[in-house]
Amino acid sequence: MNMVEIKCPHCNEDVELDEGEFGLFECPYCDEEFNWEEKKIMGSIKGKELWLRLLRIIAISAAIIFGAVVIVVYQYAEGMTNFQG
Ligand SMILES: [Zn+2]
Repeated sequence: MNMVEIKCPHCNEDVELDEGEFGLFECPYCDEEFNWEEKKIMGSIKGKELWLRLLRIIAISAAIIFGAVVIVVYQYAEGMTNFQG
Protein backbone atom coordinates (compact mmCIF):
# COMPACT_ATOMS: atom_id res chain seq x y z
CA MET A 1 0.00 0.00 0.00
CA ASN A 2 1.39 3.39 -1.03
CA MET A 3 1.40 6.28 1.38
CA VAL A 4 0.18 9.76 0.55
CA GLU A 5 1.29 12.89 2.34
CA ILE A 6 -1.36 15.47 3.10
CA LYS A 7 -1.33 18.65 5.11
CA CYS A 8 -3.34 18.82 8.33
CA PRO A 9 -5.84 21.69 8.01
CA HIS A 10 -5.37 22.56 11.70
CA CYS A 11 -1.60 22.68 12.19
CA ASN A 12 -0.36 22.44 8.55
CA GLU A 13 1.91 19.49 9.42
CA ASP A 14 2.51 16.71 6.89
CA VAL A 15 0.43 13.65 7.79
CA GLU A 16 0.94 10.30 6.09
CA LEU A 17 -2.12 8.28 5.12
CA ASP A 18 -2.61 5.04 3.23
CA GLU A 19 -3.42 5.71 -0.41
CA GLY A 20 -7.10 5.30 -1.20
CA GLU A 21 -8.10 5.77 2.42
CA PHE A 22 -10.50 8.55 3.29
CA GLY A 23 -12.82 9.65 6.05
CA LEU A 24 -12.14 11.07 9.49
CA PHE A 25 -8.55 11.04 10.70
CA GLU A 26 -6.86 12.23 13.85
CA CYS A 27 -3.79 14.33 13.35
CA PRO A 28 -0.79 12.88 15.30
CA TYR A 29 0.64 16.38 15.77
CA CYS A 30 -2.28 18.42 17.11
CA ASP A 31 -4.79 15.62 17.95
CA GLU A 32 -7.47 17.40 15.94
CA GLU A 33 -9.81 15.47 13.70
CA PHE A 34 -9.99 16.28 10.00
CA ASN A 35 -11.92 14.92 7.06
CA TRP A 36 -9.94 13.62 4.10
CA GLU A 37 -12.01 12.93 1.00
CA GLU A 38 -10.95 11.31 -2.23
CA LYS A 39 -13.50 13.54 -3.98
CA LYS A 40 -10.93 16.36 -3.97
CA ILE A 41 -8.87 14.51 -6.59
CA MET A 42 -11.88 13.25 -8.57
CA GLY A 43 -13.56 16.66 -8.46
CA SER A 44 -11.45 18.28 -11.18
CA ILE A 45 -12.03 15.43 -13.64
CA LYS A 46 -15.77 15.27 -12.94
CA GLY A 47 -16.03 19.06 -13.16
CA LYS A 48 -14.49 19.02 -16.65
CA GLU A 49 -16.90 16.25 -17.70
CA LEU A 50 -19.82 18.23 -16.31
CA TRP A 51 -18.77 21.32 -18.29
CA LEU A 52 -18.51 19.29 -21.49
CA ARG A 53 -21.97 17.83 -20.86
CA LEU A 54 -23.35 21.31 -20.13
CA LEU A 55 -21.78 22.71 -23.31
CA ARG A 56 -23.30 19.85 -25.33
CA ILE A 57 -26.75 20.56 -23.82
CA ILE A 58 -26.39 24.29 -24.62
CA ALA A 59 -25.26 23.51 -28.19
CA ILE A 60 -28.20 21.12 -28.75
CA SER A 61 -30.67 23.59 -27.21
CA ALA A 62 -29.30 26.42 -29.37
CA ALA A 63 -29.61 24.23 -32.49
CA ILE A 64 -33.23 23.34 -31.61
CA ILE A 65 -34.14 26.99 -30.89
CA PHE A 66 -32.41 28.15 -34.09
CA GLY A 67 -34.21 25.45 -36.08
CA ALA A 68 -37.57 26.42 -34.57
CA VAL A 69 -36.94 30.12 -35.36
CA VAL A 70 -35.98 29.26 -38.97
CA ILE A 71 -39.18 27.18 -39.38
CA VAL A 72 -41.36 29.93 -37.86
CA VAL A 73 -39.73 32.64 -40.00
CA TYR A 74 -39.99 30.44 -43.12
CA GLN A 75 -43.69 29.69 -42.49
CA TYR A 76 -44.33 33.35 -41.74
CA ALA A 77 -42.57 34.44 -44.96
CA GLU A 78 -44.45 31.77 -46.92
CA GLY A 79 -47.76 32.94 -45.40
CA MET A 80 -46.94 36.53 -46.39
CA THR A 81 -46.21 35.60 -50.00
CA ASN A 82 -49.40 33.53 -50.19
CA PHE A 83 -51.37 36.45 -48.78
CA GLN A 84 -49.85 38.83 -51.29
CA GLY A 85 -50.09 36.48 -54.23
ZN1 LIG B 1 -2.70 18.73 12.95
